[in-house]
Amino acid sequence: MTPCRSCGSNAVELFYETGPVPVHSCLMVSTREAALKFPRGSLALGFCGDCGFIMNTRFDPARLSYTPEYEETQGFSERFRRFATDLCADQIEKYGLRGKVLLEIGCGKGEFLSQMCAMGNNRGIGIDPSYRPERTDAETAARIQFIQELYSEKFGDLKADYVCCRHTLEHIPDVREFVGMIRRSLDRRPDTIVFFEVPDVGRVLTEHAFWDIYYEHCSYFTLGSLARLFRACGFQILDLHKVFDDQYLVIEARPGTDGKRFEIEEPVEKTRVDIELFKSWVADRLDGLRGQLDRFRSAGRRAVVWGSGSKAVSYLTTLEIRDELEYVVDINPHKHGKYLAGSGHEIVSPEFLRRYRPDAVIVMNPIYKEEIQADLERLGVRAELFLI
Ligand SMILES: [Zn+2]
Repeated sequence: MTPCRSCGSNAVELFYETGPVPVHSCLMVSTREAALKFPRGSLALGFCGDCGFIMNTRFDPARLSYTPEYEETQGFSERFRRFATDLCADQIEKYGLRGKVLLEIGCGKGEFLSQMCAMGNNRGIGIDPSYRPERTDAETAARIQFIQELYSEKFGDLKADYVCCRHTLEHIPDVREFVGMIRRSLDRRPDTIVFFEVPDVGRVLTEHAFWDIYYEHCSYFTLGSLARLFRACGFQILDLHKVFDDQYLVIEARPGTDGKRFEIEEPVEKTRVDIELFKSWVADRLDGLRGQLDRFRSAGRRAVVWGSGSKAVSYLTTLEIRDELEYVVDINPHKHGKYLAGSGHEIVSPEFLRRYRPDAVIVMNPIYKEEIQADLERLGVRAELFLI
């Protein structure tokens, strides 16, 4: 068994395996044929009994490529924009980020960094291989230097007052090496604040949310395992909490040690219990959701999935859904007319539903329920909403 990539321990136990899964879930695919033939990789989650870290033990980073065709933005959702705005305001206020230089590792299309710079009159450096210059307006481009590459040791000399890294660490296999590299870059700048945001695996386990497990995410954290990793790398943790209806974990830290523990940190034993429950329930969960789709189909009812991100790819491919439903809806216009990797479902706009008239809408993330309901009302589509 692979040693733990967070603490190096050999106490890693396998607890969840699936058939081969698409290696990417946010890469846009232009034809159904290519989507069905999309490269697949193995998924076998292991749990470290020493630090609580969870990882795909069969992950192969060589299978992935984050190109500009990578479409991860959630910025078309009003609910998500509100969350991002609140987060920016909170960070600017908390750490006095005005007139500063901010570095974002894994900035995607640069939306968060642009907002942090605009709201706090900051300058920025954004690093991401999937960045697309045409999505940045001139005013933002003047404030921010974008580097279309993967972050590596060579960027350690970039000077910044604040380093943020959102929804990136879970895509990195060697998390100890990665967080250690960032810590080393701050040796001569011990006042730099770092901010990391990742999904909460504790929620995935307790809700048996198998659709939140996919190939791109090779590393999974609880607040406890995240805090242990940062401390081991020489960070002093300033704050540790959950955001976005408790779906995401946030850690704020700076170089140093103070040994402070937060009450909210789950002990390894709590994660072990959650894993046992996940193991005993996940098969029922899969059967239940499959049965639901079979019932729709045999009753002649049309269902669509709303949300074409990684959750949908994992939900449709894990359940091996093909003809049970035809379309996946997304509000991001960059995705319309493309196909979902693995399952081959076409991605359509909400407007398409005016003609298609589905009976049921399967909502991939309950946080968008109200927004989806409002969209359906606006379109005059009467469909039953199912939150998975
Ligand atoms: Zn470990």
